[in-house]
Amino acid sequence: MHILVTGAAGFIGSNLCKNLIQEGHQVTGIDNFLTSSPQNIEDLLGENFTFIKYDVTQFVHVPGRVDAIVHLASPASPVDYLMHPIHTLKVGSLGTFHLLGLAKEKRSRFLLASTSEIYGDPLVHPQTESYWGNVNPIGVRGVYDEAKRFGEAMAMAYKRVHGLDIKIVRIFNTYGPKMRLNDGRVVTNFISQALKGEDITIYGTGKQTRSFCYVSDLVNGLTKLLLSDFQGPMNIGNPNEMTVLELAEQILKLTNSRSQTILRPLPEDDPKERKPDISLAKKYLNWEPTVSLQEGLEKTISWAKNVLEKQTEIQKSLV
Ligand code: UDP
Repeated sequence: MHILVTGAAGFIGSNLCKNLIQEGHQVTGIDNFLTSSPQNIEDLLGENFTFIKYDVTQFVHVPGRVDAIVHLASPASPVDYLMHPIHTLKVGSLGTFHLLGLAKEKRSRFLLASTSEIYGDPLVHPQTESYWGNVNPIGVRGVYDEAKRFGEAMAMAYKRVHGLDIKIVRIFNTYGPKMRLNDGRVVTNFISQALKGEDITIYGTGKQTRSFCYVSDLVNGLTKLLLSDFQGPMNIGNPNEMTVLELAEQILKLTNSRSQTILRPLPEDDPKERKPDISLAKKYLNWEPTVSLQEGLEKTISWAKNVLEKQTEIQKSLV
């Protein structure tokens, strides 16, 4: 298939493109590098991967046949979308609108990247796809949550009105190589703090929970969903729930770090608990995660060590 991937140079985008190319697809990647990096796609450029630097909040046109569109483009870390609130709203709304228009013209199947954030600070636990969520629309996180909710609504409208083949993936916390080490998210913060011997910053009491999925599991789920006949929203994530404090302990142990934990204020509207119900993915895709937290963290820590070593070498060569 010829597959168009927006956000191709991002953490999930670059890992997904690699997987799609390995499975024999032709991939065109689009990215504006707002929160991503050209380095993530360096090893992909070649016969089966074409890259276009472009901002999909502008009108999008791609010549020729397009069999599938995967719309991943968006700032996704709370720190990033708080820094780019208007662009986050635009890429989730205008960007989704432009790509749905392209899908309509090309009759491409369409996979929209949505998020567990559409459940907000959830009142139903674990979160099932039938839960409508508890989002503060005017809070600081609303720029991401509402953009994704709008994107879902628009994708479903294109399905109803134009008969498009629509899949919506609600992605839960994901980690692994090719994240930005300074993206402000909990796994990258804790790993880089532990490796540098800096204090581990626990926001709030650290008793809030998340459920972390290793990126290869997520990418397998996304690929299966894209190639399936399933229509509508589906959670993809790892239901292995833990507190932020437990995550910190695990990372300290795996890095042999002597860093101390310190408490910092809890960000506004930070969800108290989050865990995906993945019954739908199990039933329709025969998918569930296979990488344990320990294995995933070990791989991520060894990748992060390399990144930090390279950064130190560059800094030394500049002195
Ligand atoms: N968090 C933390 N310390 C950090 C970064 C994040 O305690 O240095 C907490 C954050 O408050 C949240 C959880 O870790 O409760 C996950 O945060 P992240 O930004 O990774 O993603 P979120 O799930 O909130 O989108």
